[in-house]
Amino acid sequence: MRGFIYKDLEFSQDNLQLCPGLCAVDNPKNVELTFKALQENQISLARMGAYKPRTMPHSFQGHGKACLPYVFELALQYNIKVICMEVTHEKQLDEINTCLIQHNANLGIIVQIGTRNAQNFELLKALGKQAEFPVLYKRGFGISLAESIAASEYLIAEGKQEVIFCLRGVKSTAQEPHRNLLDFSHISAVKRLTNMPVCIDPSHAVGEMFNNQDNITDIQQAAAMGVIAGANMVLVDFHPNPTEALVDKKQAIPNELLSKFMQDMLLVREAYLQRKKLWSN
Ligand code: PEP
Ligand code: MN
Repeated sequence: MRGFIYKDLEFSQDNLQLCPGLCAVDNPKNVELTFKALQENQISLARMGAYKPRTMPHSFQGHGKACLPYVFELALQYNIKVICMEVTHEKQLDEINTCLIQHNANLGIIVQIGTRNAQNFELLKALGKQAEFPVLYKRGFGISLAESIAASEYLIAEGKQEVIFCLRGVKSTAQEPHRNLLDFSHISAVKRLTNMPVCIDPSHAVGEMFNNQDNITDIQQAAAMGVIAGANMVLVDFHPNPTEALVDKKQAIPNELLSKFMQDMLLVREAYLQRKKLWSN
């Protein structure tokens, strides 16, 4: 298998995991409503940003370790098995581990390296050395795919086997009106060049819930494009009430659309599997 099993969940080049959740933890109520929505849709993998790398120093930086106790407690309550959470400094690994131990929690954490740290080699080495958590590596938004893959190999060189490679769009003068230019045509390339499962992040790629005549927003279209091209994981921003979000409110899909979003992704996944069969001989 090109991939790994973590807390009973398979992350490999052969399957698809959905990882919806809050871009940034804001308050316990919204964390609880989000976990509840995931549980109602039989999803046990969630994104929850505690440490936020912000472009502006005065923007909300995330609640950091202060929110971990209630995030972990609520996760256990709603049968969440794994949380995907960015770290911006290696000391945060200890904060996460300490809080997990305090909660006696058999909860999994996938640590995310954000696009802004894609070539932070010391952080990559530190995350490569730690044994506890798998890593989700986000490609650099201003470097080539080859440079991003090379940087992700710092993790592997330090001994980390469980690594997911995430595409999230790149900076380009041609990106407008989107936040980044979609790079999901690189899915096949990453699968060909590495053994890593490939995640897509349509939320940070597109950046806004533009409404269309067909009612399928650009974010949902981007997600579908990734899944029909064989993506193995979809990291996607949801929020119970996007106007309340403290980070990236324009790109959050309302939780009430989660069930439809899932149905949509399964439809497209099925189409990918049929395409694979069609071309298999
Ligand atoms: C995120 O996923 O919360 C994030 C900050 O993404 P990126 O690093 O891709 O900008
Ligand atoms: Mn974000």
